[in-house]
Amino acid sequence: MIVERLWAANPLRNYHYLIACPETGEALAIDPLEWQLCLDAATAHGWTITQILNTHEHLDHTGGNAQLVRATGARVLAHAAGAARIGGVDIGLHAGDVVRVGRTVELECLDTPGHTMAHICLLSHTESPALFSGDTLFNAGVGNCSHGGDPERLYDTCAHQLARLPTGMRVYPGHDYLQNNLGFSLHVEPGNATALQWRDRAATDNGPQAPVLTLHEEREINPFFRLQQPELIEGLRAIEVALPPRPSPREVFLLLRQLRNSW
Ligand SMILES: [Zn+2]
Ligand SMILES: [Zn+2]
Repeated sequence: MIVERLWAANPLRNYHYLIACPETGEALAIDPLEWQLCLDAATAHGWTITQILNTHEHLDHTGGNAQLVRATGARVLAHAAGAARIGGVDIGLHAGDVVRVGRTVELECLDTPGHTMAHICLLSHTESPALFSGDTLFNAGVGNCSHGGDPERLYDTCAHQLARLPTGMRVYPGHDYLQNNLGFSLHVEPGNATALQWRDRAATDNGPQAPVLTLHEEREINPFFRLQQPELIEGLRAIEVALPPRPSPREVFLLLRQLRNSW
């Protein structure tokens, strides 16, 4: 499996991904908003885009579909429950479906509601395990729930699906929010030395140069994966967040999500 990350250089800091089969040159484009960028990159590599996959229905992920389909004839894949809102979807996806690219690539679909209620994350179990997390999981953060989402469901997705994935998995999110999110990590956990180090690095290595983190690295800096860390609970009390004496992971997650909305 070859993964090419493409930087849109837009205000929303979108990433697009091309996933290609090295044997056949067939490629799948994830969330190709800047469709020409994707097409040019595929052409430069000698790849043919045969499939487009939208992680969810927001326009900053689907807005390039029509033109890329016109240019390539690619099939469009998206969560079955989001297909009607997206329009032009050829294949509706469900949890456990496997998307194949060429002869060598298999991507497993996770049904990951929370940011929206029709969100797909993709897992690659190959030699380089990878999670394409759309707007569900960002580096050092999670997606907001303000545009059709639900924080309770986002907690379930993070706790019961993402937190259980192998820690060596590399995370490929839909946006580059690392630097900004680390500000929030340090707001709620000011003594997190690892987060400080990553923030220094992200000040220079961002956008097209941003590092690709593993889930292990995420667990050290992403407050939404650190719900039982005493330092985090202490940090929340220090900024006068009202917490019960022994808050559950769900309670901490929901408070963090709420706090992040106005941070
Ligand atoms: Zn979104
Ligand atoms: Zn987005």
